[in-house]
Amino acid sequence: MPAKIYRSPYPDLDIKSEDLISYLFSNPLNTPHDRPLYIDALSGKQYTFADVIQRTRSLASGLQQTFGLRRDDVVALFSPNTIEYPIATFSIVGAGGLVAPTSAALTVLELNAQLKTSRARFIVVHSSLLETAKKAAKGTSVENVILLDGSSPVDGQPTCEHIASTFPPGTLTAISPAEASKKTVFICFSSGTSGPSKGVVSTHQNITANLQQWRALVLGTGSPSQRPQRQTAIAFLPFSHIYGLNFYMCQCMIWGTSVVILPRFDLDTFLRCVEKYKPDELALVPPVALMLVKDERVSKYNLSSVKRVMSAAAPLTSELSSALEAKFKSLFQTEVFCTQSWGLTETSPLATAIPNDRLDKREYNVGVIAHNMEFRFVDPETMNDVASNADGSTSPGEIWCRGPNVTSGYYNNEEATNSAFFTEPDGTKWFRTGDIGAMDNEGYITIHDRIKEMIKYKGLQVIPSELEGKLVDHPDIEDAGVVGMWVDERATELPVAFVALRSQAKSRDMKTITEDIHSWLNPKIANHKRLRGGIIIVDQIPKSPSGKILRRQLKDLLKSKKPKA
Ligand code: AMP
Repeated sequence: MPAKIYRSPYPDLDIKSEDLISYLFSNPLNTPHDRPLYIDALSGKQYTFADVIQRTRSLASGLQQTFGLRRDDVVALFSPNTIEYPIATFSIVGAGGLVAPTSAALTVLELNAQLKTSRARFIVVHSSLLETAKKAAKGTSVENVILLDGSSPVDGQPTCEHIASTFPPGTLTAISPAEASKKTVFICFSSGTSGPSKGVVSTHQNITANLQQWRALVLGTGSPSQRPQRQTAIAFLPFSHIYGLNFYMCQCMIWGTSVVILPRFDLDTFLRCVEKYKPDELALVPPVALMLVKDERVSKYNLSSVKRVMSAAAPLTSELSSALEAKFKSLFQTEVFCTQSWGLTETSPLATAIPNDRLDKREYNVGVIAHNMEFRFVDPETMNDVASNADGSTSPGEIWCRGPNVTSGYYNNEEATNSAFFTEPDGTKWFRTGDIGAMDNEGYITIHDRIKEMIKYKGLQVIPSELEGKLVDHPDIEDAGVVGMWVDERATELPVAFVALRSQAKSRDMKTITEDIHSWLNPKIANHKRLRGGIIIVDQIPKSPSGKILRRQLKDLLKSKKPKA
């Protein structure tokens, strides 16, 4: 039977293959060159559109001449959000390199693993993370640890900020349209549907395509060439995640939106920035939406500029969405439309959104399929398309997708790449998202479940196999299985570990053992990966005959057992 393919309700855009920097710097929406583009939320320091272009050219040439950066070199970027971050990203890419953004929350061991995966030749690091970077670089292919910030050289070595201010601007590396469709620009990290963290390959064209799809879809005009209202945006989502990287760093540059950059999320700073810079849209994740509803500090600020909230990266319930709209109405007498989008690192990221001209359809769905994309809804057991109903709606099934924004696979990892795609007899490929969704008769999609292993704590990925690998190194633990526990009132999932103990530990006090496991594990992992859902001691971890952890059974067990915090 031929596959049931669902297309975007909008006609295809004419997406050309173009390299990211030429596309961004071509200034397609004619942003004035003196417009502030990146503003530091804490110091107020800012770079205009013209500054960004000039500093990028200087730093690209400085990195080539000072450190010998070559075309196709991978450079890891390890920093919280700062106004130097976009300049460093554009410079590395402008010099023909690939950027592997790594979360600023990583421990030495976690960073070391990502440096090995990306085979980075350099790591550009924020001064606050220098010691972690130096330790993590040991035993990897990193030849030089380069400081991102600091207006003068440190120990005789120039920083990126210093080079960008002092080096004469050079010519950026030319990348032909044919190359742009194949050449990797970003390697962001994700677990995909299963297993450890992997580097997701995003080509220049994946990113430039998604910038156009996003604009055309969200504006609802079908045209990517219209300038949106958005004058300012407040950026607290990490640039190391594709959502922050694509939206705040790149899309806002095209829109000419001034991006106020926070190093990390802090509610008071965020609210102060919204009051001061008056954004008309907030791009956020569900736990921040929850804070805006629940935290009393919100009423101390004037947030009346906000007209639209766009949530992504994790599910936003309709209750929370309605509560947020009601809160803005009661506090600021404003009508706010709260919408959500859906996507993955592998879709660069946006794959669905509610168009601006269909805000009436926003309740509890993630919108329609982005331009130039095709979806299938597949039963993951039988691998057949699920039934479609007489009115054109579908039953829930795993979303498979393809389009110009969809990754070609995982960096240097053929096995993971092969299992992430379904290949048709004619060779065409579908990316298997690991999310279960359904579509209504007007083309609006709801996400029902996540069948992949990934846990999302506050929109950040927690990878079960990574925690399990660490837990079994604990002297008292025989085996371990980790799953997510959905905590609605906190709008997030908490990682819970099931552990089977070694015989010598079975007679000990359980509370002491679980406390001991937490304090042993916590220094080894980034803060967001902590077992906030608790630890449950079991006799054995349920496994399939092939040795795969039966996570569904663990999730069912969760309903009957209470974790020890
Ligand atoms: P990441 O690659 O970190 O962006 O994670 C992608 C995953 O986040 C998706 O496969 C979903 O499981 C989840 N996700 C993203 N947006 C949404 C949403 N609006 N509703 C439900 N889950 C979402």
